[in-house]
Amino acid sequence: MSTARTQPFQRILLKLSGEALGDGKAGHGLAPESVLGVAKQVARVAQNGCEVAIVCGGGNILRGAEFSKIGGSRASADYMGMLGTVINALALSEAIEAQGLQTRVMTALEIHAVAEPFVRRKALAHLEKGRVVLLAAGTGNPFFTTDTAAALRATELGCEVLLKATKVDGIYDADPKKVVDATRFEELTYMDVLSR
Ligand code: UDP
Repeated sequence: MSTARTQPFQRILLKLSGEALGDGKAGHGLAPESVLGVAKQVARVAQNGCEVAIVCGGGNILRGAEFSKIGGSRASADYMGMLGTVINALALSEAIEAQGLQTRVMTALEIHAVAEPFVRRKALAHLEKGRVVLLAAGTGNPFFTTDTAAALRATELGCEVLLKATKVDGIYDADPKKVVDATRFEELTYMDVLSR
């Protein structure tokens, strides 16, 4: 359902950390109330005429780098992580549809029984029709994260802005959950990062 535009952006990409869909402070697993809360906010934005693509993370289920510490292959653990993002995308898609919107789940790994494969032109067509497009399985490649997928998809889908919904309120010089005096950057360019 697409209505008159009242949003500052025509098309956005929301990178949703898996933790946003999880339970409690730790953000583990899938909590129905978290999924519904996110779905309601997304629906409000889309109903105001903004085209919304969402890259779902999977950290609430499994992160390859952490899981591979058991000694197995990192690549397999990363594929497991990507499958976790598909579960999240399916959950969120159901909750958004329950708000009266249409959605499409598109995956970078082909899983035909549950989702469409990601095809850029098809994704664009869905967005133009006002469907919320949920992009799952990251880039489809191990050794990456869904942040890379978000930057990639935002660029190829011509999104005006990439919004990252996560528990951390910015970029720090160290993990603020582990280092108490970590410094938050007010502004950071790509070149700044390279020169550090
Ligand atoms: N992943 C991957 N390739 C990708 C995207 C994700 O291998 O292109 C795997 C990786 O193991 C990652 C996991 O999927 O840890 C879940 O994604 P991410 O950690 O980005 O989730 P988030 O932290 O955003 O919830």
